[in-house]
Amino acid sequence: MDIQSRYFAVLEQIPESVQLVTVSKTYDNQSIKEVYDLGQRDFGENRVQELVQKYESLPKDIKWHQIGHLQTNKVKLILPFVHLIHSVDRPKLIRKIQSEAILLDQKVKVLLQVKIAKEDTKYGLLELELEEILKEYTEGVFPNIEIKGLMGMASLTEEVSEVEDEFRKLQAIYKRYQNQYNFDTLSMGMSGDFQTAIEYGSTMVRVGSLIFGKRM
Ligand SMILES: *Cc1c(COP(=O)(O)O)cnc(C)c1O
Repeated sequence: MDIQSRYFAVLEQIPESVQLVTVSKTYDNQSIKEVYDLGQRDFGENRVQELVQKYESLPKDIKWHQIGHLQTNKVKLILPFVHLIHSVDRPKLIRKIQSEAILLDQKVKVLLQVKIAKEDTKYGLLELELEEILKEYTEGVFPNIEIKGLMGMASLTEEVSEVEDEFRKLQAIYKRYQNQYNFDTLSMGMSGDFQTAIEYGSTMVRVGSLIFGKRM
């Protein structure tokens, strides 16, 4: 199958209420342009340097999502154009985004990444840190930031029940805060688990290799 067929095969499995972010990290501009020409506008990247290069060389109506761990010293490079930062995974990062955004007199949309996987390798906020950030948000500590919702990554495992447990947990946390904070985005689900994520209330899936092919 080619990129086009794989893209439509994925789209077919996603209800209209769920948004697809095609994760284009490591893939070249030509592959991205192929999917763009089919109407896709939301693309996700995890490395700042790559994101900036692609932003500069691809059509300007693409909505770029920063989905990977973000170093504080790189924040200012992406703020002028990034559509949504999914990976606010530590308190220090949201403070940095606030301090850079105020300099640009800009409002930045973010998701708070919650640690749900058991693996140590997955970044994310602990529930207490999440609570603390939301409390500060209510108090007006982040006037240049709009928190749109939550993001999470499940463990990389064949154990469907473990993935389900993790998504269920994130869904519960999301529901706890959704009304109070006007959340409209729950970003969870990748190539291997997006159908499960949708069952547990995902509103935004991030799919890369299933569309673009195996990464080199
Ligand atoms: C790479 C990546 C994805 C997409 O992974 P695939 O398995 O290629 O679909 C989704 N989310 C994050 C945070 C990623 O880094």
